Order: sequence, then structure tokens, then C-alpha cells
Amino acid sequence: MATGNAKTVDVNGISYRWPSKPVVVVCIDGGDPAYLRQFLADGAIPNIARFMRQGFATIADGTVPSFTCPNNMSIITGTPASKHGISGNYYLDTATGEAVVMTGPELLRGDTILARFAAAGAKVVSITAKDKLRKQLGKNLDLTRGNVSFSSERADKCTLAENGIENVLELVGMPLPDMYSMELSLFVLEAGVKLLERGHRDLMYLSLTDYVQHKYAPAESEARRFYQELDQRFGRLEALGAVVALTADHGMNDKSDAAGKPNVIWLQDILDARFGKGDTTVICPITDAFVAHHGALGGFVRVWCRGRTTPEQVIAAVRDIKGLESVLDKETACAVHDLPHDREADVVVIAAADVCVGGSAAAHDLSGLAGHRLRTHGGVSEAKVPIILSAPLNDEYKLKAGATTLKSYQIFDLALNGVAQ
Ligand SMILES: [Zn+2]
Repeated sequence: MATGNAKTVDVNGISYRWPSKPVVVVCIDGGDPAYLRQFLADGAIPNIARFMRQGFATIADGTVPSFTCPNNMSIITGTPASKHGISGNYYLDTATGEAVVMTGPELLRGDTILARFAAAGAKVVSITAKDKLRKQLGKNLDLTRGNVSFSSERADKCTLAENGIENVLELVGMPLPDMYSMELSLFVLEAGVKLLERGHRDLMYLSLTDYVQHKYAPAESEARRFYQELDQRFGRLEALGAVVALTADHGMNDKSDAAGKPNVIWLQDILDARFGKGDTTVICPITDAFVAHHGALGGFVRVWCRGRTTPEQVIAAVRDIKGLESVLDKETACAVHDLPHDREADVVVIAAADVCVGGSAAAHDLSGLAGHRLRTHGGVSEAKVPIILSAPLNDEYKLKAGATTLKSYQIFDLALNGVAQ
């Protein structure tokens, strides 16, 4: 590079330019483009509208399955799931037959952009709403030199040794938020604002939670209030001199019928009835410790053949079920959706936009919906996400963005290399 500020950091085969201004990347969890359309139309999000006018905006392809962990890992590594290895919140360890939670940093392959920049001397901040993501986001991140990694969920328990920061509630000026609240996300952004004010000026990754989008459709006033609160904080981040880059991990679709009853295909029950109990194992990779707002139902499940039944038999048995968008064998699923082969199931089942797939009806607790329609994600139909930058692209990246559909995991590339400086 011929410019004076030629320092770059290489991560997983991509060279990232050293930021000349603070760069704040925000993952609006469950930030379906439909919310932006609604609130842009009614003028509720003036800062985002301004970013779109003065900067850059497009709809990008997220990682499939359109779940939180795979997409967050794609974003912070700049790679597809086939490279970073995190293809769900859960997978089946075929050696033990146990479902394994995929949030351990040891399961994440390759380096994160955050850790590599920190190692090169940048001041890096990583904040997430739910603690489940924190350790992977903070993989190999050196927290002894002023870098910060914590979650809203455990903001009251931060220590210098574990998080690189303490007294977070005082810093942010908010009480510890409830796990099922919009404040859990707002806390992340408020913390980002406060840290930016205090001079954490290089690279920031702020990852929210999709509680509001699971619960409220774009037309509902609670969703509007949430987006207004987000928008106000995005404006403050930009006013502090940051390049603000917004994307989402996945979208969100209503998956209930006209009467409000969830459209669910209970796949484990269907397979057990056809092949006998224990012969196949359905894993719902949306599952985490906090599922009241979606009952662990999503648009993408995996089937492992544990007994005599073959993948071909499973595919033949479920292929024609109404409401499924695709039923794929392992090879095809890995090829089409760029997934890691060693963690893939024998059969991948993806639902249509208005349908979700579960395991066994008895294993899913839907009481947490408490009268709300089921809104969830996971399939291809929830993999379209926005990318919005507060600053315009340079000519090279304008051409790139015009020639192809961007991937959401290019957000750091866009914000660091693509912004006109
Ligand atoms: Zn999510």
C-alpha cells in the first residue's frame, strides 16, 4: 500500500487496514430487514436513515443456519462456517451420542479479527448481551492491556482478570438488565458509548440479543421503541467520531397460523413413528439456556442416523412433508451452505419461511410464548440481513459491492478496508 498509514493486520487470509478512526461494528441480533423498512418508512430511526444516505446500505447474505453463534463467529473471523467450525449452537458428538454446546472457544477454528488487532497493539472492545457468546468472541484476546470483553448478562461480575474491566454497572449507569428485556441489548450499546468516551478508540464489536424481535413484529409499538433506542445510541457512537457499521446475525419470521398457533413439524416424532425410537437423533441447533421466547424452535434441524436407518431413507420419509423448503444429505448441505463437514449431520432439514421444525413435541416447552405468536429463524428465509455503514465506500469497494451480493461476514472488511478515508 502506498499511503502513509500502511499498517495492516492479516487475519484468516484477509489483510485489514489499521483504523484511522474508531470502528464500531454492531450485530443487531434478529435485525430482519423488515424492521428497518417499517421504521425508515415512518421516520422512527433518523440516524440509521442518515447513515444510509451519507454512507452505504445493502442487503447481504448471512451464514446458514441463520442462528446467532454461527453468524457471530462468521462476523468476527471474516470467514464462512466451513472455516470457523461453528455451525450451530449445538451439535451431536457422534463418539458419545451427546448433544454438545458449541460455545467453547476451543471449537472455534482460526483467529478472530478482534484478537489479531489486539495482538498488534489496538485497543479492542467486545461486548455481548448473553454470556454464552462471550468466550468465543474473546478467544485469545489479551485482556491485560486495556482490552475489554464482557456480557450484559454478567456485567455485575466483571473482573480485570476475566474481562479486562470492573465496576461496569457504575460505568454504564444502568442496573443489571433482565435476561428477557430490551435493556439487555441497550446495555451493550450504552457500554460501548461510555468506553468510546473513555478513549477505547480502535475496534469495537457490540453484539445484541433478539428477545424483542422474537416477541414483537415490526408493526408493534414495542419493536418501534426498541429501534428508536438503538438508533439514538448509533447516533451517539457516530457523534463520538466512530465509523459505525451495522449488520445482523439473522432475520426473523412469523411462524404461526391465522389462529396464532405455531406451524411446527415435529420431526423426531415423525421419524420415531416411521423408524422406531432411538434410530435417529434430531438436534435443534437453535437451543440455548434461554428459550422461553421461542421454545427452541427454529427453521433448521439436523438428523443423525444412529441405527439401521440410512440417510436416504430419512430423506425419502420427510422430503414431501408440506412446509419444508429443503431436505439435504450431508455432502449437499456442506457444499450449498459452506458448512464444516466434520460437524454436519447425515441429513439437514430446512423449513419454509412460515414454518418451523422441532424435535419431539414433548421436548419443547411453548408455555413461555404466553399468548405471543411464534417468531423465529434458522432457515434460508431468515438469512438475508442488512449492512449499513455510516461512511461512504471507496471506489474499489463500491465496485465490489455493486458486482456481487455481499456476505455479512465481510462487515469488518467493509468497515476497515472499504470506507473512504
Ligand atoms: Zn440471533
